[in-house]
Amino acid sequence: ISITDPIEEHRICVCVRKRPLNKQELLKKECDVITVPSKCVLLVHEPKLKVDLTKYLETQAFRFDFSFDESSSNEMVYRFTARPLVQTIFEGGKATCFAYGQTGSGKTHTMGGDFSGRAQNASKGIYAFASQDVFLLLSQPRYRNQDLEVYVTFFEIYNGKVFDLLNKKAKLRVLEDGKQQVQVVGLQERQVGCAEDVIRMIEMGSACRTSGQTFANASSSRSHACFQIILRRRGKMLGKFSLVDLAGNERGADTSSADRQTRMEGAEINKSLLALKIAMISPGMSSCEYTLNTLRYADRVKEL
Ligand code: ADP
Ligand code: MG
Repeated sequence: ISITDPIEEHRICVCVRKRPLNKQELLKKECDVITVPSKCVLLVHEPKLKVDLTKYLETQAFRFDFSFDESSSNEMVYRFTARPLVQTIFEGGKATCFAYGQTGSGKTHTMGGDFSGRAQNASKGIYAFASQDVFLLLSQPRYRNQDLEVYVTFFEIYNGKVFDLLNKKAKLRVLEDGKQQVQVVGLQERQVGCAEDVIRMIEMGSACRTSGQTFANASSSRSHACFQIILRRRGKMLGKFSLVDLAGNERGADTSSADRQTRMEGAEINKSLLALKIAMISPGMSSCEYTLNTLRYADRVKEL
């Protein structure tokens, strides 16, 4: 994507990432129904039954700006999706990157990474890679002496309520100002001086997001998390990068369609929004229906 190209400025880029089959799926000998034959195409091989009960696979093809197979790393996904948008915030722009998909398909893994210590090696996600590049740009001669400061915010939207993940989950109010800009009142902006500072914020916020839950994934699968990197010059906001880890898309038909509507409207209304979507999919046969839903949705977003 060329972010400085005025024609491309409001384009929405849609990418899909397939995660590998996990241990349980492998134990259950679950079939992998997804193949990625080239960098923009993804195939779903849906198991079907003929009237005489013979089994066959129906292959459906989807085309995206980029499709990542199970061997792709968070860094590679970052490079081809969010990375070109980092420059945007230095030019006074706003950029957004959403992760959309079924619970368990890898949204949080991709966006937030894993610093919990559960993973063998702490793995960075898009939040950390984007922050790292912000500091890299800041150290370049053209930005070094410009009085630029970096802040991050991290909040969660759960059941229509907003909670500050960098301030003990304080409940916040959301208001729309005169310019129809949505403001989260009292949201803590934490100043950060280096990429390591940001990682500490991500760790702190992520721990806050999932703690106190009976079921490991219950609240985080039904909540949206938003991590923002804000660039300020002498207090005044220059640019903002919002990285959104959306709630699982497998919820009841009514709520998910209402959400979809809101998101579609949001994308259309906010003309200044440079939005980028990433969709995550699970490869397993038992997820096939959800996967197709995700892909059809992602397919429609391309047309916005
Ligand atoms: P979601 O946020 O979409 O519900 P998670 O990111 O929590 O899903 O992923 C579910 C599980 O799968 C986690 O244990 C995560 O570490 C693992 N996982 C997801 N994507 C990958 C991947 N690309 N490679 C390896 N493990 C992954
Ligand atoms: Mg998640």
